[in-house]
Amino acid sequence: MADCIFCKIVAGEIPSDRVHEDPTCIAFRDIQPQAPVHILVVPRQHLARISEMTPQHEPLVGHLFHVATEIARQEGVSDQGYRLVINCGAHGQQAVDHLHVHLLGGRQMTWPPG
Ligand code: AMP
Repeated sequence: MADCIFCKIVAGEIPSDRVHEDPTCIAFRDIQPQAPVHILVVPRQHLARISEMTPQHEPLVGHLFHVATEIARQEGVSDQGYRLVINCGAHGQQAVDHLHVHLLGGRQMTWPPG
């Protein structure tokens, strides 16, 4: 997608602080971190939102979550716990229309979310 910022990051046209890459996805540190560990796991394939998921995307979405758990281990937040978040659409406060999983950790989270 020509105008998609995360497609540009995937393509290397916009720099990012990458912590993981594989043939299916990349992961990089959020530019405005909301926790000591705030990493975005982003599929190389453009899918605007999780609500566009179909059965064919099940392996992709499963992979994103598996990668997020591996990065949580690498970042040292696995034992104490963390949060994985997908924002969807306007009410979900999704700002970038390219599917991504937020990995947030390194501090106590609160509930309910804002
Ligand atoms: P969301 O609101 O779920 O769409 O989250 C989008 C996230 O992308 C926000 O946390 C932003 O801080 C983050 N973000 C936007 N642009 C960049 C960028 N160039 N590099 C890293 N993170 C970014």
